[in-house]
Amino acid sequence: MNGKIGLEEHFATAETLQDSAGYLPASSWKELSSRLLDIHGKRLQQMDEHGMEMMILSLNAPAIQAVPSPALANDMAIRSNDFLAEQVAKRPDRFQAFAALPLQDPEMASRELERCIQQLGFKGALVNGFSQVDSPENVVYYDAPQYAAFWAEVERLDAPFYLHPRNPVPSRAQIYEGHPWLMGPVWAFGQETAVHALRLMASGLFDRHPELKIILGHMGEGLPYSMWRVDNCNAWVDGPKAYPAKRPLGEYFANNFYLTTSGNFRTQTLIDAMLEVGADRILFSTDWPFENVDHATSWFDAASISEADRIKIGRTNAQKLFKLPVDAPASPDASRRMVGAHR
Ligand code: MN
Repeated sequence: MNGKIGLEEHFATAETLQDSAGYLPASSWKELSSRLLDIHGKRLQQMDEHGMEMMILSLNAPAIQAVPSPALANDMAIRSNDFLAEQVAKRPDRFQAFAALPLQDPEMASRELERCIQQLGFKGALVNGFSQVDSPENVVYYDAPQYAAFWAEVERLDAPFYLHPRNPVPSRAQIYEGHPWLMGPVWAFGQETAVHALRLMASGLFDRHPELKIILGHMGEGLPYSMWRVDNCNAWVDGPKAYPAKRPLGEYFANNFYLTTSGNFRTQTLIDAMLEVGADRILFSTDWPFENVDHATSWFDAASISEADRIKIGRTNAQKLFKLPVDAPASPDASRRMVGAHR
């Protein structure tokens, strides 16, 4: 289909580029680094060739989250967000933006989110997992009490919050010792992000702020496959609940979360996610430049789902979630074109 919108689509600046080194063999670095630093060249060409109308851009990982000094993290976030705003202003019809946030300091993060949404016109935030605060070993997750006011601000600004993966710090990664191939997108990213999402659900965050919208990539980081078991095992025996949240966690997963197809181009997995959270909460994404646009689109355009669901997941869910301009009602001819000729 034409007109696809993607929202896990990364870029780097000169100061964050090296954060993306090491995930691929050295022979691929020249290509990957040039893709990360490019916005308006090959990226746009790939979008044109494969029916992507828009990318909502975000900084690479872990970037801001791995800068232990709150002041330096804040400076870097402001520089990156200003750079991104300039890039989007050149082609707002093709690019929009997610804010990078210095969550080392919840108050600074709130101020930068407000600036990005209200002054720069960003569509939400993308944060790369936990933040290292004051020292590389001090790892902080966002269910911690010091983030109470930050989350209130996210809800007030109605800013979708994309919880993107990062690797655990080495001192907390004993299970991967001797198996470095498990780090990164192969396994550790999903594990890290799924547990962080479960912490948010169990903390009662969504009882306090029922309008929060959290986005997870990679078809939900394995959670669609596991939510029934999480709730079933939490309720094995009658007794006091083991976490503060009021409801079964699957209810928050179904009501406060959105999932994207980034880097997980598998129809069986998509259908499981659709059965768990519904086609209204799944959004197309590629994970460029770590994945190829053509790999994402050739799979998605031919996946065995209904054309109505393809249009929702490929385009209209993103228009609604990010308040993008909505298409004029399609004539019968236009709808035939959308689902037929451009597949
Ligand atoms: Mn990504």
